[in-house]
Amino acid sequence: MNQLNTRIAVITGASSGIGYATAKLLASRGAKVAVLARRADILEKLAAEITAAGGTALALPVDVTDQASVDAAAATVEQTWGPADLVFNNAGVMLPGAIEERDIAQWQHQIDLNVTGAMRVISAFVPQLTKAAAAGATVDLINTSSIAAQNIYPYFAVYSASKAYVSHLSRHLRAELGPKNIRVSVVEPGCTDTELQGHFTFPGALNWLAGARETITFLQPENVAEVVGFLAEQPKHVNLQQVVVMPTNQA
Ligand code: NDP
Repeated sequence: MNQLNTRIAVITGASSGIGYATAKLLASRGAKVAVLARRADILEKLAAEITAAGGTALALPVDVTDQASVDAAAATVEQTWGPADLVFNNAGVMLPGAIEERDIAQWQHQIDLNVTGAMRVISAFVPQLTKAAAAGATVDLINTSSIAAQNIYPYFAVYSASKAYVSHLSRHLRAELGPKNIRVSVVEPGCTDTELQGHFTFPGALNWLAGARETITFLQPENVAEVVGFLAEQPKHVNLQQVVVMPTNQA
């Protein structure tokens, strides 16, 4: 097993759900964690909790739809600890709707966050990952996609397409960055109990969600965090390229 206590980790979407749980898990296993999201108050509380438990954390308020904001956070991480060697690229939003509704603002928001936002984070941190790998560190870029990248769900077309982008992007980046000893992984979770579904407004999607909650035992964010920890702890030459993590009773 590859110990995490030398790692410098960056987690986006760290103020709730999967990112929050992953920040706690990586910190509890010894990694220094920079926690990124927009809600500064929650990040400060999370960093304080991690520090109180004996870990090391840095709260960095960031909007991943703004390249300057992401670049500033990347510069702070490197100045504080040196180059990041683990980036969990996880911030995202899910706004289902019928295509006839023509809610172009919601489509754009999902694409700007899930697609371009993920790219902004990659562009800001790949130079650091490259430096860390050249210095001999174990290095990970772990992108959060979704089972929606593979399965078909009515009303989730734009979200699902945005996540298919992340999965395909990850495979291509792996081909490019693997030879530089940067592992690229994509995690594709099924239904997970987080704030994500709290943004739904479309009735068809709310009905789907009510049915899903009756029949599926949703994953907890900690279950996905365990997967991220497992990926990072693999020996340096082992890259788990793609992990689908599903509730047992979700088809
Ligand atoms: P949450 O809604 O709980 O977390 C989303 C995180 O993204 C929050 O920390 C939020 O923080 C952050 N975020 C949103 N907008 C921005 C922004 N503009 N800039 C920076 N950060 C932002 O959802 P999950 O934990 O469920 O989602 C994490 C990832 O997992 C997402 O990519 C999601 O698509 C994916 N996923 C989730 C599944 C589920 O069922 N929950 C299933 C499959 C994949 P803040 O508001 O403070 O900025």
